[in-house]
Amino acid sequence: MKYCARCGSEYEDSVSHCTDCPNHPALVSAEEMERRGLPLPHDLDQRRFVRAAIAENPLTAESFVEMMHERNIPVLVRPGRSGVVDELTTGALLPWWEIRVPAEEQARAATLMEQERRLEVDSQDEAAAAAEAEERESEEPPPPPPALPAH
Ligand SMILES: [Zn+2]
Repeated sequence: MKYCARCGSEYEDSVSHCTDCPNHPALVSAEEMERRGLPLPHDLDQRRFVRAAIAENPLTAESFVEMMHERNIPVLVRPGRSGVVDELTTGALLPWWEIRVPAEEQARAATLMEQERRLEVDSQDEAAAAAEAEERESEEPPPPPPALPAH
């Protein structure tokens, strides 16, 4: 058997790449999974891996995985197959990714990813604000500098 080190799926030896994950990573051996601290699907070990976060887009999923790698936390990403329907736009199922880490790292990992998520939201807000400011600037003359209070 071979395994995907990203999502933890098991494949027949004849398969070379994971079909579930984006970019279809190359499969690795059971020994390699063990070396990376990742559980095999049939292992009891599996139960020690718990959900630490859900990523709604691939960029977030990647940044979470990167964070976990940086801190040497073994991480698995499970692609979601069904879930929230994007009714407003396409009516298609929105993809999502479940970030799973060892139970003993769950609290730390969840905190880290929550912080990362907040940063991401902030930077999106900032980018939107900057774009708006730019728009205003191009339409109107710059406002006069604020009067300094006399002392
Ligand atoms: Zn995979």
